[in-house]
Amino acid sequence: MNLLIIRLIIFAVLFYVGLKLYGMYRQHKLARDEQHGALKRHEGGQMVRCRWCDVHVPETEALRDHEQWFCSSAHRDRYFQEQQDKNGGA
Ligand SMILES: [Zn+2]
Repeated sequence: MNLLIIRLIIFAVLFYVGLKLYGMYRQHKLARDEQHGALKRHEGGQMVRCRWCDVHVPETEALRDHEQWFCSSAHRDRYFQEQQDKNGGA
């Protein structure tokens, strides 16, 4: 009978320690994920909108020309082509 109680106590202690360790691990993992996420957000930078197709692209991947943002050089060329056509027609 005594042995059973000791086993139960040992089991309870092991369970408690395991739970504690799991909690610590989770907290550590969460903190690391948050740090990583913040870093990723910083790397990604600001999102800008393509003047031609309205698609949002990261500032680092976008093209900037005449204070306008574009997702690609093709859209930049098309946008300025359209502006030229408008000016020519008026
Ligand atoms: Zn575009």
